[in-house]
Amino acid sequence: MSNVNKSILVKTFFLLIGIYAIILIITYTTFRSYAIEENEAKLQDLLMHNKALHTYVEGRLKPVFYKLKDLGKIEKGYFDPVVLSFTYMSRNIMNEYNKQRLKSNIETIEYKLAAKNSRNPINQATEEEIALLEKFNKGELEQYSRNFDKNGKNYIHYAMPVTKNAVSCMRCHGNPEDAPKSLINTYGDKAGFYEKLGDIRALISVTMPLNVELNKMYALFSVFAISLFIVFIIVYILIYYFVKKLDNKDKILIDKANKDGLTKILNRHVFNKDMEDLIKSKNNMNRFLMIIDVDHFKEINDTYGHSVGDIVLVELCERISQNIRKGDKFYRIGGEEFAILSTQTTQEDEVKFAHRIKNIISEIAFPNIGKLTISIGISKQEVEDTYKRLFERADKALYSAKDSGRNTIILL
Ligand code: GH3
Ligand code: MG
Ligand code: MG
Repeated sequence: MSNVNKSILVKTFFLLIGIYAIILIITYTTFRSYAIEENEAKLQDLLMHNKALHTYVEGRLKPVFYKLKDLGKIEKGYFDPVVLSFTYMSRNIMNEYNKQRLKSNIETIEYKLAAKNSRNPINQATEEEIALLEKFNKGELEQYSRNFDKNGKNYIHYAMPVTKNAVSCMRCHGNPEDAPKSLINTYGDKAGFYEKLGDIRALISVTMPLNVELNKMYALFSVFAISLFIVFIIVYILIYYFVKKLDNKDKILIDKANKDGLTKILNRHVFNKDMEDLIKSKNNMNRFLMIIDVDHFKEINDTYGHSVGDIVLVELCERISQNIRKGDKFYRIGGEEFAILSTQTTQEDEVKFAHRIKNIISEIAFPNIGKLTISIGISKQEVEDTYKRLFERADKALYSAKDSGRNTIILL
């Protein structure tokens, strides 16, 4: 494959990896935020349900109790958190909810109804929760959520205010004198009192593990990443075959331009170019130009026909191609004239090589024709040589070889 095409494939490979990585990053971020949003929505739903329970307790349940008290059906000082404290109810409902979660092998949630001045210490708001309460009261914040990691797991902390102090709340959260005696007996006359009507007394704070949604997201993301990877591999393979096909077409065109149509060895055009390059660089002078000409070739054509002559030329080139050395280049420079450019060799080796070629050719028994010989002229490149001078010397050597009876090698 050509270097240009190789470079196209390498660039395409890295481009595809880059696009793949960008798509994965974008998808991962989108999937993750979607999973978190889903979880947040779930939490919001749970808390809205909790808030609805608060509204029910304050708006429906308590008024019935107070009415019964007013009617003297229930003792005035009666108080039982099981039926009269929303905080107690919601905490216990959440405990039941957690039990259900555990039964389904889902990690429990942390639930807290945090108040600034709580009756039960477990409901006491932390500093962070007090700050949130203030923001809710000032109307600066309507809800709050934060993601965090603990022991390598992801969690979401979500908080929203409970409804504002209603008239029904004030009996137990306003002045202690209005409160049921048993409430004061249980919690004293300070904790939970002196709240203002319309204020937000508490917030519902929930910490929920994100792992269920995130694990689902990771599974989905893995399927997506693997599928996309397969798509990219297929795309790359298609591009690879497309480039390879183009490369083959290029190769055919280059071969057509550089190779001789009959013998398939390098043509005169490449020979001229290589000779120019050879003359330009002077860093290694152990180079030789060998010109080979078939002896009495015209007779073969005349006797057996041009097409038989062609077969002879093809066979001759095949045999020489099989025997040239590493660093040698073999060209057809004329009708039945060939050249071998040798680099990195000595004069002794070059002459030995010429003899070997001459002997190999002379031993071939061509069908019908029998044996034939070749004459070889060799010139060694000198520092002052131009292309023309180097070639002329080899040509002159070839003519001397012909003159001296053919089937001969002469070096000038
Ligand atoms: P010499 O020993 O002096 O080289 O004698 P020769 O007959 O080989 O003489 P020369 O080199 O001048 O003749 C070359 C012949 O090669 C002439 C031409 O018809 C023939 N020839 C050139 N190209 C082709 C070719 O592509 N195919 C065939 N069959 N013959 C070719
Ligand atoms: Mg000839
Ligand atoms: Mg000739």
